[in-house]
Amino acid sequence: MTAVLTEASSSKLNLLGLTHEKMIQFLETLGEKSFRAAQIMKWIHLGGVDNFQDMSNISKSLRDKLTEVAEIGVPEVTYKEFSKDGTRKWVLKLDQDNSIETVFIPTDGRGTLCVSSQVGCVLDCSFCSTGKQGFRRNLTAAEIVAQVWVANKSFGARENRGDHAITNIVMMGMGEPLLNFDNVVDAMHIMKDDVGYGISKRRLTLSTSGIVPEIDRLGDVIDVSLAVSLHAPNDELRNQLVPVNKKYPLAQLLAACNRYLDRYESARRRITMEYVMIDGVNDKPEHAQQLAKLLKQVPSKINLIPFNPFPGSNYRRSSEERVLWFQNYLYKQGYTTTVRSTRGDDIDAACGQLVGKVDDLTKRNQRWREKLVLTQIQNDSNDQSLS
Ligand code: SAH
Ligand code: SF4
Repeated sequence: MTAVLTEASSSKLNLLGLTHEKMIQFLETLGEKSFRAAQIMKWIHLGGVDNFQDMSNISKSLRDKLTEVAEIGVPEVTYKEFSKDGTRKWVLKLDQDNSIETVFIPTDGRGTLCVSSQVGCVLDCSFCSTGKQGFRRNLTAAEIVAQVWVANKSFGARENRGDHAITNIVMMGMGEPLLNFDNVVDAMHIMKDDVGYGISKRRLTLSTSGIVPEIDRLGDVIDVSLAVSLHAPNDELRNQLVPVNKKYPLAQLLAACNRYLDRYESARRRITMEYVMIDGVNDKPEHAQQLAKLLKQVPSKINLIPFNPFPGSNYRRSSEERVLWFQNYLYKQGYTTTVRSTRGDDIDAACGQLVGKVDDLTKRNQRWREKLVLTQIQNDSNDQSLS
């Protein structure tokens, strides 16, 4: 039975969010040897265990001690749906007022989990529904890791997972990860760790709108892949789309990208530049030309993201023809350019669009019920939280 986080249980230390180093420190305070840390982490993250009594290679006395002072606290999953195309989505209830969404999207032999770092976002990019909600709060490291724990567990025992495993994790859900720095870094250490989720640095990506000093700090403490939400090839347009550009304009941002690459040159050769394609706004031939010129400064690959419309937004998605033209142009200029698949649209779950639509769950709940092929959590308390 999953230990659901409640205010009453929050006095216990939640081991889900402890890095290997912190787990060792914690066990030392209990007078335990450091090798126990790896054993416990394997049970939690690889084994999907949330009850200390299930940890069979741990002594009964330590299991009892852990039960007394600690917990493996996973937020309640108030909704889950598995779409026909393999996309999976979870809504996790963090507390009375806040929920988040996590999405798994499979693509040719890969399984990418899109993880949230904050409830809402303070940065207010003009095309982003998370930004339109305003900022609610940072997620704890445990709440970030819980998203991976829940997704991982949904695939069952490791030997039965086949192709359906999480191979990649992107910090591209709700929120700006670099504005929740310490918790995100701890969570990413756990995602990378062999006794955590074992995701390699090339397959673990942090996406940022471009908080320049924090990009430098990130390079100091962890080696992961970096994606930058560029979205515009000049400062004037970027100021409109990504307002934080007024504080950290393109020249500063691109210089920070180069510094980041220089630190771990052998491991990470390019920055992924994300570029949302908005009809008539940033998708004209002149924008493609400017972009190709601008990115000569930084080793880059480009990911074009067709804009995902949401209620209240006046933007429209660029036509498929225009997206392909853009891709072809950048390709000819020597850039690896991918177009993000819009799979997941069928459950409102395109990555990067994880929204506080959870506030409007009743209506969506009905829609989902009509469309789904999948599993739904059915118990009274969940029904209450959805109505
Ligand atoms: N705050 C971080 C990470 C979360 S957003 C960042 O901005 O990078 C993840 C990605 O989805 C970003 O590239 C973001 O710009 C993009 N995105 C946000 N809203 C979108 C929308 N409506 N359509 C398409 N992409 C969107
Ligand atoms: Fe925040 Fe990223 Fe959305 Fe901008 S795109 S408002 S930084 S979540």
